[in-house]
Amino acid sequence: MNLHEYQAKILFSEYGIPVPEGKPAHSVKDALGAAAELGGSSWVVKAQVHAGARGKAGGVRLVNGKDELEDYVKNLLGTVLVTQQSGAEGKPVNCVLVSALSDIADELYLGMLVDRSKRRIAVMASAAGGVDIEEVAATEPEKIFTFAVDPVMGLQQYQCRALAISLGLNGSQGKQLAEILSGLYRLFVDKDLSLVEINPLVITRDGDLEALDAKVSVDDNALYRQAVLESWRDPSQEDARENRAKVYDLNYVALDGDIACMVNGAGHGDHGHHKTARRRTCQFPGRGRRRDDGTRCRSLQTDHVRCQGEGDPGQYLRRHCTLRPDRGRHHQRGQGNRAGYSRSGAAGRHPCR
Ligand code: GDP
Ligand code: MG
Repeated sequence: MNLHEYQAKILFSEYGIPVPEGKPAHSVKDALGAAAELGGSSWVVKAQVHAGARGKAGGVRLVNGKDELEDYVKNLLGTVLVTQQSGAEGKPVNCVLVSALSDIADELYLGMLVDRSKRRIAVMASAAGGVDIEEVAATEPEKIFTFAVDPVMGLQQYQCRALAISLGLNGSQGKQLAEILSGLYRLFVDKDLSLVEINPLVITRDGDLEALDAKVSVDDNALYRQAVLESWRDPSQEDARENRAKVYDLNYVALDGDIACMVNGAGHGDHGHHKTARRRTCQFPGRGRRRDDGTRCRSLQTDHVRCQGEGDPGQYLRRHCTLRPDRGRHHQRGQGNRAGYSRSGAAGRHPCR
């Protein structure tokens, strides 16, 4: 389950991760009230949707004065925002975050996710943060630093220091990074998260670190013990079919793609990355199969589906990178997607790695 940025920032504050002051608003009146409480004459207004890349889609705006704020919020609320990460149908904007402006000197990227292949929480970071991080991960993977945290030892100070050096931070920023990492790791474990992303983690003109954006995903399987987070669920941002399945305690994952080949059997098509979607879709009969421990599998999702965070952590970052025309799209039958990478990030490793 995903949280909105403003909800994620509430958690960040509880765990000592510095965030700019901000208030959610569901109406123009609320937004004007929030701006008055924050003070000043310029603010940043951000659409609260469960999708990133809002900036490039017009969902993040620096506004000067109350008139500009009012106009922007009036035009934004009630619309559907389509971003590179929202899917073609977009996400409804029912809420905006009105935030104090930050004076940005530099933008970093910091993320944590479950690396299932290592069975550990992995940290990812880059000095090349900001709106193009996915492109950076795909074309210059050497700029993404990753390390895994031993679940028994916990996050180690030497790991934080090494990361600070890799990111080119000075001594004081290195200490701030260590505090942010430690807060983020505690938050991740305490709240049963599956993903946290801070992009950008900015260095302000005063030289301090601040989480300007926040993405948090909670492990659905742990929601039974995260009642507060579950009460923050926003069904308007989720797939209606998945919500229906949840009512029946089914773990249904809506997929798009071409399933026409079912008449010929699963996975014998010749349509590139659609094949992956089709193969997954055709294996629904996996439901009811006995697991090794004797329990029955209730999920409509088969074991063949790669879960978020499985495999190389950088793969997660490349998920929204569009296929390059020269790679992957017209690959030969039998080569799979090895030459390129798909939008879902489920295909092979990037040739640079
Ligand atoms: P996203 O596009 O959905 O990832 O939204 P972000 O919250 O990351 O905002 C996109 C971009 O807007 C950031 O990378 C910043 O460059 C810019 N931005 C967001 N908030 C501020 C702010 O307070 N001050 C300034 N100067 N820029 C901001
Ligand atoms: Mg962002």
